[in-house]
Amino acid sequence: MKQGILAGLLALILASCSGGEEVAKGDAGEVNLYSSRHYDTDLALYDDFTRQTGITVNRIEADADALIERITSEGEFSPADLLITVDAGRLWRAEEAGILAPVDSDILEERLPIYLRHPDGLWFGLSTRARVIVYNKAAGVPEGLEDYADLAEPAWRGDICIRSSSNIYNISLLSSIIAHHGAEAAESWAKGVVANFARPPQGNDTAQIEAVAAGECRIAVVNTYYLARYADGDEADKAIFDAVGVIFPDQDGTGAHINISGAGLVKTAPNRENAIRFLEYLTSESAQRYFADGNNEYPAVSGLKANSAVERLGEFKPDTLNAAEIGRNQAQAVQIFDRAGWN
Ligand code: FE
Repeated sequence: MKQGILAGLLALILASCSGGEEVAKGDAGEVNLYSSRHYDTDLALYDDFTRQTGITVNRIEADADALIERITSEGEFSPADLLITVDAGRLWRAEEAGILAPVDSDILEERLPIYLRHPDGLWFGLSTRARVIVYNKAAGVPEGLEDYADLAEPAWRGDICIRSSSNIYNISLLSSIIAHHGAEAAESWAKGVVANFARPPQGNDTAQIEAVAAGECRIAVVNTYYLARYADGDEADKAIFDAVGVIFPDQDGTGAHINISGAGLVKTAPNRENAIRFLEYLTSESAQRYFADGNNEYPAVSGLKANSAVERLGEFKPDTLNAAEIGRNQAQAVQIFDRAGWN
């Protein structure tokens, strides 16, 4: 967070030094964002867009489900132009609620790989994060732990820390396993992982990393940007980062599970053109840098690098399963978690 504020301040300072053709706010109308992202760097991103286009950015922040509900209840009078959120599962909920409209943009199609956008253009992935395995280095490299499937092997009894199944990152991971291996295999996987729990699911991804570093559990499953925060943090954070090893799963198979931050055009958008322009702006190199540097995510646009803290985690092959597929299997994933007794 501290880093986010600094990056934001830096962006503001750079902005005020750049001078040149300032465009007065409001000249070119506005765009209304309903966002469940609450990173400081996103604010710098919005200011940058206003500087470039003169379009004023208004935003409402709340959690994704509340925003979807709000857009639904506001109906045709909703001021919302774009819904911005994290996780394919939430974008799918918005799609299911029928609040998104397709966007046909050559710029978006050219810049974003096909697996990071909805097949009909209902939403677009703007940055990605991988869900990886971490292990306690002091306990040694866990031999044979290479794929998500291996997490269910009896070799890891009592070793695994992972957050609750109500967490959307785990729901999306299981959704991808359903897509690749079928519901039956997904269920025996979930049961196998539950049998290997070091403790009942508790805490967020950060808590899992710290538990692994402290040796409370040998293995955990977490998103890459949390790891990068430790890599880039103070001495205590760095010590935690140094105590854990990272495994990008399924590198000889389908690749490491990826999730997205994304945005979709609201069906009733009063400022449709500005909204599409903003979407396109979010795939520009400078906007992609804000995402990459601000929250330690991977740029969605191919060919752009992550920041140095993220790069330190290593190169990997991502799973290119379409994010829409991940969304579609959410309900089934929740049922499987229930049956497997994964709290
Ligand atoms: Fe998160």
